[in-house]
Amino acid sequence: MPALNDVLAALDALWPPERAEQWDAVGTVCGDPDAEVTRVLFAVDPVQEVADEAVDLGADLLITHHPLYLRGTTTVAASTFKGRVVHTLIKHDIALHVAHTNADTADPGVSDALAGALDLRIVGPLVPDATDPEGRRGLGRICELDHPETLREFAERAAARLPATAQGVRAAGDPDRTVRRVAVSGGSGDSLFDAVRAAGVDAFLTADLRHHPSSEAREHSDLALLDAAHWATEWPWTEQAAAQLDEISDRHDWGLRTHVSRIVTDPWTAHAAAPPPPARLPDLVSVPTRLPWSPTLNAAPADQIRLLDVQALDVRLSQLAHKRKTLPEHAEIETLNADHTQLRDLLIAAQTEESDTAREQTKAEQDVEQVRQRAARDQKRLDSGAVTSPKDLENLQHEIASLAKRQGDLEDVVLEVMERRESVQERVAELTERVESLQSKIADATARRDAAAEGIDAEIATVTKEREVIAGTIPADLLTLYDKLREQQGGIGAARLYQRSCDGCRQELAITELNEVRSAAPDTVVRCENCRRILVRTPESGL
Ligand SMILES: [Zn+2]
Ligand SMILES: [Zn+2]
Repeated sequence: MPALNDVLAALDALWPPERAEQWDAVGTVCGDPDAEVTRVLFAVDPVQEVADEAVDLGADLLITHHPLYLRGTTTVAASTFKGRVVHTLIKHDIALHVAHTNADTADPGVSDALAGALDLRIVGPLVPDATDPEGRRGLGRICELDHPETLREFAERAAARLPATAQGVRAAGDPDRTVRRVAVSGGSGDSLFDAVRAAGVDAFLTADLRHHPSSEAREHSDLALLDAAHWATEWPWTEQAAAQLDEISDRHDWGLRTHVSRIVTDPWTAHAAAPPPPARLPDLVSVPTRLPWSPTLNAAPADQIRLLDVQALDVRLSQLAHKRKTLPEHAEIETLNADHTQLRDLLIAAQTEESDTAREQTKAEQDVEQVRQRAARDQKRLDSGAVTSPKDLENLQHEIASLAKRQGDLEDVVLEVMERRESVQERVAELTERVESLQSKIADATARRDAAAEGIDAEIATVTKEREVIAGTIPADLLTLYDKLREQQGGIGAARLYQRSCDGCRQELAITELNEVRSAAPDTVVRCENCRRILVRTPESGL
């Protein structure tokens, strides 16, 4: 688990504090730099209800878009509502960090998330940051619609896509006018009219549009205006920011659990619409106090169930790969090879000894032959009668006798060498037989191993093909998430929700989590709070 300091360094890299406006108050409000961080909650407003949610969640870090103390303070007494928030957080070891105007102008920033929520194609920043050579950072975004809509359609879509609030989306302009190019800016936007006009857009979607700037903008040109709740235009950023921190956590293997607050902290809670003329926008009838499960991913329930089939095949594939790697023949061949090496060394030593002994025998036989020839020569001289001097005769007879003794000794040597050589030859024969027998055992085990591997390979090919066919019917984004999780989570990326427990980590779901899963739409891709795997609902889920 990372220390708060590590997480803060990562956050500062995403939203450098020095890029905040001069008047802003961003950064860490409270928190111990050395404390460990496991759970992180993202929210727009650091209000008491959100602080309580952080406590309930067991969060260690709360990251909000709006500052708690924008203008400084001289007291954090719990008798003030902000002081109460500080007390709640510190009492439960929860750090508070603010990314405000530094997140507005970041790439990606608050308006990118807003444009993303509305499916808009981003062209560039509305007020570019002069210090960004790439021209991507800055306040607001200029966007294009893939398919032009009427102002009415665009406003209705914005109201449906942004989190529901009492206000909904107000619009100014002819409801039937065409909207192709729009400027968007999360949060208060009525100081940006000059830039909006310069951008030549058809409409401007933002929040907190006051009467006079709006009225003047409408008199100035035919620019259509859309005014949403401040909170609703900034809330999409919390999901984007959580995803950014998730990505960093994955990269560093931090194992952070990020959460996005779904408490509606828009201060407006009711809306009394005037009787609507037909061309007007639809009214909001009810405002939930909590957003429904806000998915990052949707997939048809049938696709989710099929993902379990893919998971089963992937498990089979890893079992087969394991089986192939741990075939008993592998160990058998290894042992046989070791024995073979040892015996072959002994055989080579014996063969060397045998050839040495053969040379020794030849040499001894030559010695015998030399002595025999000398003795024969002497005998011939003696027999010829040429030697007559008694002294010479005695010497010759003496030499013949001593040569005879010498030949006898040398013949004993030959016999001894021959005996040794015979025993070495026996050893060579025995070792040769053993080496050959081992070689045939190795050949046999190798053949058995290859046959077993071939069988497994054939099964792997069949299962791989089957997996390809089923995976091909699953939406790409769901499959990508699954593959990523499978890699991170020891081969299991998707698990059944069975009898209220996650089949991946075997943890029973907490009642709050269970309620969230119950209220999630069937096509919402739900994740296990504990192991982050995709949780697939089935009739046996016990919901
Ligand atoms: Zn704001
Ligand atoms: Zn789990």
